[in-house]
Amino acid sequence: MTARRGKGRQAILLCKVFGIASVQAEFMLTAARSFLATRWRRGMIRDRASLKRYQIRQLAALQRHLDAHIPFYSGVRRRPFEQWPILSKTEMVERFAEMNVAGIDASAIRHALAGGAERVGGFVVGQSTGTSGNRGYYLISEAERFVWLGVILAKALPDALLRRHRVALALPGLSSLYRSATHGSRIALGFFDLARGIDEWADDLVRFDPDTIVAPPKVLRWLAEHRMLNAETIFSGAEVLDPLDRAVIETATGRIVREIYMATEGLFGVSCPKGVLHLAEDVVFFEWERAGADSRLVSPIVTDFTRRSQALVRYRMNDLLDLSETDCSCGSPYQPLRAIEGRLDDVFQLVDSRGLVRMVTPDVMRNAVVDAHPAIQDYRIEQTSPSSLRVCLEVAAPAEADDLVRSRLELRFAGMGLGPDIEIVRGIEPCFDRKLRRVRRLA
Ligand SMILES: [Zn+2]
Repeated sequence: MTARRGKGRQAILLCKVFGIASVQAEFMLTAARSFLATRWRRGMIRDRASLKRYQIRQLAALQRHLDAHIPFYSGVRRRPFEQWPILSKTEMVERFAEMNVAGIDASAIRHALAGGAERVGGFVVGQSTGTSGNRGYYLISEAERFVWLGVILAKALPDALLRRHRVALALPGLSSLYRSATHGSRIALGFFDLARGIDEWADDLVRFDPDTIVAPPKVLRWLAEHRMLNAETIFSGAEVLDPLDRAVIETATGRIVREIYMATEGLFGVSCPKGVLHLAEDVVFFEWERAGADSRLVSPIVTDFTRRSQALVRYRMNDLLDLSETDCSCGSPYQPLRAIEGRLDDVFQLVDSRGLVRMVTPDVMRNAVVDAHPAIQDYRIEQTSPSSLRVCLEVAAPAEADDLVRSRLELRFAGMGLGPDIEIVRGIEPCFDRKLRRVRRLA
């Protein structure tokens, strides 16, 4: 009983943190509860064994919900988790109406978004930034958005109860989720529109004087290079953080770059204060598929415990992750990552001398290019056909870099029985308005 009363008091305090006086008081309370629950889990889940027990309980609760409320999963209660279907993005989009409690299909969401609406049938809807044929869609309740907000804040700013924060957010497709938190009395949020170009708002950002910033790595790098990145806590989000960008930002600021691993599908991880990215295993159950026979990289299949309006169950993600086997010194039992290495879509498929298709993961080519010459600060690598690729280097890179990059790549490919044509060109197009993918498979 005492513990309950203690929790109640904390919840009231959190209401103040999140700005309970705002019109969305009820939802802010949801965020506050979620914030507390996330903090509580971090205290209760001390090792892998307790995490496992927690996840089993969550999966059982999810199973009951799916069976009762999500048509696609009707009868799933009688089947063990391992037998539930694994879904691709295409299957998810095709059967979207059966995957949510409201029976709303993907085309209804597409039409609503095209008309500028953010809601369908009382649910918040959205889509990923992918090409039109390859978009993912999501549907969540208003309350679920705030659960998500609470989780992310608890993981990124665990001291939000103790001190005020000024958080700058420069993320693609900023939804009204973020805007809704601006009135919080302890957390001030500033929004910076990527579509407008950084130089348009960089001075406003400096005036806003954030202690925490969340932005794509290319934006953080630009700010660092222009000596405009003064925040104490720096989070990279929305795109893969390339070690090149990390080094430039950390050298310029003297601070660790932390990461928030999120996608249209949800929140998957947040870096701890040591700078190590931990998976959010208290909200998502992860299974793994290896990216290629000779790669240590894996691709996740995710099951989100917290999503109720739309099921996100055994969903095959496009990301390539490098899992760490070493425990983190921060003491968190959540799986640490060495890196997010890119997307499964961008694994090159090159034909060898026997006509067989071989998979080459982005990290292999990235390392060959970056290690070729210390002056290489940026690059693009694109697969242009089953047997050719193009490398773009900066105009300013030294002349000898071309030959060094070519020979490094040739050596690496030869070791795998591959000999693609390699074209080296000078000049890299900036792309602040869309996702930066340094390694891309075009063909
Ligand atoms: Zn850690």
